[in-house]
Amino acid sequence: MTIATPDIARLAASPDEVLARLFTSMNVDGVYGRTGAYEDVVDGLGRYIGTLRPKGAEVFRFPPVVSRALIEKSGYLKSFPHLLGCVCALGADPKRVTDAVARYEAGGTWADSAEPSELVLAPAACYPIYPIAAKRGAISDTLLFDVASDCFRREPSKDIDRLQSFRMREFVAIGAPVEISVFRDQWMARAPEIAGDLGLNHSIDAASDPFFGREGQMVGRFQVANALKFEMLIPVRSPESATACMSFNCHKDHFGLTWGMNTVDGEPAHTACVAFGVDRLAVALFARHGVEVGGWPKAVRGKLGV
Ligand code: 5GP
Ligand code: ZN
Repeated sequence: MTIATPDIARLAASPDEVLARLFTSMNVDGVYGRTGAYEDVVDGLGRYIGTLRPKGAEVFRFPPVVSRALIEKSGYLKSFPHLLGCVCALGADPKRVTDAVARYEAGGTWADSAEPSELVLAPAACYPIYPIAAKRGAISDTLLFDVASDCFRREPSKDIDRLQSFRMREFVAIGAPVEISVFRDQWMARAPEIAGDLGLNHSIDAASDPFFGREGQMVGRFQVANALKFEMLIPVRSPESATACMSFNCHKDHFGLTWGMNTVDGEPAHTACVAFGVDRLAVALFARHGVEVGGWPKAVRGKLGV
């Protein structure tokens, strides 16, 4: 179900131009060094998103790694095992280390000797917040959080809008079903305001997450049928093909049941998150307004403070 249709507008910079001017190759698909000009816009987006922060939201910034146990318990392996990255290391065992390095120096590989650690790379910014919130006891008023982290998803691609390593900021709400559903819907209703502030054409569409396998496709259809996920789509690579730059997600009682989070009436808490794909928004801004920030509309520069 499409709620709004983008008016197709000219993009001022091609993907190749954005890539050449704002990123620098690190010889891995979807992993880039970023220029100062690009990071200034990322910082500007950070400030702008800060102005939207729900009143009373508590701020947490998480590292790019989270415990494997947390991601396992969250059900990630059932849903997105193909996207997950695990931190492996040689560790401190002298024999293992010496053998592995010797093998590498003889022209072989060292990595086979590395063992999975207790860490995985964060696939989204919001996972760590649920166990933190669960420790607070029964929820009377909706809990609100502003969280962010570098995220990793194993999706190598040459497209500038599909990175393996990217930044995500999220507003998360935890509470009673009605409040959570209202939270998600109110944020979706603000999408035109956000896109307008940034001078970006947008549409909102129902979406599903890229669940793994056949069974996963069914879960995806359930997600669409139950209107659990919507995305704000913005043209990035061409005026016709739009990219999801924000998502509006309702998880129902999934995290409430997983972490034993209840409302004061004893029912499992519901959760929702509104995710800003910070790198996709930055790339969308450069694609739409050009690679020179000096040439961007004054109003957009004002909103970002760039
Ligand atoms: P979701 O959890 O809804 O898949 O992701 C939240 C947001 O993160 C997306 O709306 C998008 O803006 C951003 N995101 C997801 N995957 C990628 C990716 O491969 N590259 C970049 N740059 N951003 C992504
Ligand atoms: Zn989330």
